[in-house]
Order: sequence, then C-alpha cells, then structure tokens
Amino acid sequence: MSIFTGIISQQFKEIYRQAIDALLEDNALTIPCTLKYGSTKPIYCDNCEMDPIANRSSNIYNNTGPNPFEDNTICPVCLGKGFINSNNTETIYMAVLFNGAGWLQWGSKTVQIPDGMAQSICKSELSSRIKNADSIIFNGDESNVYTLAGDPELVGLGDTNYAITMWKRQ
Ligand SMILES: [Zn+2]
Repeated sequence: MSIFTGIISQQFKEIYRQAIDALLEDNALTIPCTLKYGSTKPIYCDNCEMDPIANRSSNIYNNTGPNPFEDNTICPVCLGKGFINSNNTETIYMAVLFNGAGWLQWGSKTVQIPDGMAQSICKSELSSRIKNADSIIFNGDESNVYTLAGDPELVGLGDTNYAITMWKRQ
C-alpha cells in the first residue's frame, strides 16, 4: 500500500488522458517531425479493410490493427485513404525528448541512455507510419538524421492511446 493506492480511478485516467492529449496538440509541446519512407510503393494501412475497387479504405476495422474504430466511420490511422504514405515524406507532430533524464519509462523496457538518442511520444494512431519510416528528422534539422531504435511501444493508463518510440542518430 502507498499513499497513491486507490487513486487511479476511471475519472483520474480520463483527466490524465486529456492532459496528455493537450500536450500532444500540434501547437503545444510537439515539434514537426519529418518521416522519410524508403519506398514510393504504397504502404497499406494495417488497421482497416481495403476496398480493392475504390482503392481506398472500406472504413471497416480489420480486427488486428492498433486502433479499433466503429464500422463505417473514418479509420483513424489512414484517415480513410487505405494507405499511409501518399508521398515519400510526411510531417507529423510529436513531443520529442533529446535529454535522457526526461524520458518516460512507462513501458515494459528499461531504457539505457546512450548519447545520440531521442524519445518521441505521440498518439498511437501514428505508430504504423513510424514503423514504416526509414528515417526521421526533427524540427527540419537535415544535419541530424535519426532511425528507429525499436518498434513504437503502445502505452497508456489502462489503454494504448500513446506510442513511445526510441530513435538513434545516424
Ligand atoms: Zn486505415
């Protein structure tokens, strides 16, 4: 037992989730992060069923993807496109910590802190894009190219609303 025992109520989780969502708004603590995909071939969405005739999302959850949604609403991962890279590069907004002292140790992995690494926090909907990216630059800084140091880890308070990703400088 600790003084915190019992305080993590559903309401507490909801307040916490809203607070983190606010931090991750495009103009809050986040910076522009440019994902570079190695291929111009379409990367199909791993969260919804494709409509092969319309060549876009059928707006039906595929039962295996990271972000379940109601049938006939817009897939939160591909936003209804059915694939996630319309271009070779794409800018997303994430909170990025370059100083290991501030890293969240929220997931299951214990993080070692070598130099030249960064940690990003974003909504879990972006994890498919991150997984498929060859490299990333932060804040438009072309002189520092980072690559994935492991798959994004989905985390949250009793849910998986967020993705924490480790990056290493090339
Ligand atoms: Zn989709």
